[in-house]
Amino acid sequence: PKAPKAPRARAVVDLAALRANVRALRARAPRAQLMAVVKANAYGHGAVPCARAARQAGARWVGTATPHEALALRAAGDTGRLMCWLWTPGDPWREAVEADIDVSVSGLWALEELTAAIAGTGLTARVQLKIDTGLGRNGCQPGDWEALVAASRAAEGAGLVKVTGIWSHFACADEPGHPSIEAQLRVFTDAVAYARAQGLDPEVRHIANSPATLTLPEAHFDLVRTGVAMYGISPSPEVGSPEELGLRPIMTLSASLASVKRVPGGHGVSYGLTYTTPGETTLALVPVGYADGIPRAGSGTGPVLVGGKWRTVAGRVAMDQFVVDLGGDSAAPGDEAVLFGPGDRGEPTAEDWARATGTIAYEVVTRISARVPRVYL
Ligand code: PLP
Repeated sequence: PKAPKAPRARAVVDLAALRANVRALRARAPRAQLMAVVKANAYGHGAVPCARAARQAGARWVGTATPHEALALRAAGDTGRLMCWLWTPGDPWREAVEADIDVSVSGLWALEELTAAIAGTGLTARVQLKIDTGLGRNGCQPGDWEALVAASRAAEGAGLVKVTGIWSHFACADEPGHPSIEAQLRVFTDAVAYARAQGLDPEVRHIANSPATLTLPEAHFDLVRTGVAMYGISPSPEVGSPEELGLRPIMTLSASLASVKRVPGGHGVSYGLTYTTPGETTLALVPVGYADGIPRAGSGTGPVLVGGKWRTVAGRVAMDQFVVDLGGDSAAPGDEAVLFGPGDRGEPTAEDWARATGTIAYEVVTRISARVPRVYL
């Protein structure tokens, strides 16, 4: 935007691009329903607007990690199928069931806490049982599956629960061909077959995240859960570039230069004076820092587009600001500095920042903090 409403910095989020990404993903998994994963404030993009846009593009489901994230979506008016999976003892089971949220159960403690929370209320919880097929995080160990299935059947018999789903999560789907993928699929199909043989009748079976949605049709089952790809970011270079995958990054992070000044050669820059101007030059101050989610690891490495050219963060990223050295080029306070975007105006991408800072693009976008206003297109 020419005269931005957010003068210091802004994350412009292109919801039309999100809708196009959702449609592209649905075309990759035409027989499956799609769950828009909007945990962590939609990976930094804004949970409420992203969930709404994803539903407009045909996402039947929305998924979050915590129950609080799911309840916040209900409070904002989301009425479709909604699931959350990261439960901790003491979490609001009853509120989630009252709000018609599908709750994930990974073990007996959760089933017991859930059924105790709703006993006598007349409520029936929609429960999705999670099996750990090899990731080693949440989920029922295969050796404990029999007991969890039996307890779930009993809770169904008591009218407290309806098992609506059986699901799992991949460890290495972003490395196509990794041997763990086949192994996890075998454990998953065995767990589903056993649960069915015991009388459970789940409406949805699901294990695919973005990389499995894009590379592994045999993992689509009834539902795919897409996060990062919906935001236009590739899960990994092995899966392909966004262009190759028909995706477009939806966030552009930019700031307006807060100061531009000439300094002599030999001038130190930012804490620790880790950068020294090689000669007389122009320094520009970009008013975002690690409090805004700019990685401090971008000190001396992070790319920024100013005046049509890539610059590199000069010296350290501070809490609220960093400096770029424009050399012989000129600029004025208020000129735009683009940290990352889709790349088609020549700006770096979140993937470029990930490479420059030793992390993944998931983290680059997710860590952009609440101090940066989101502007929706
Ligand atoms: N499903 C679960 C359980 C997740 O935790 C996540 C995110 O890590 C996803 C799906 C979406 O993964 P991705 O962003 O790779 O699509």
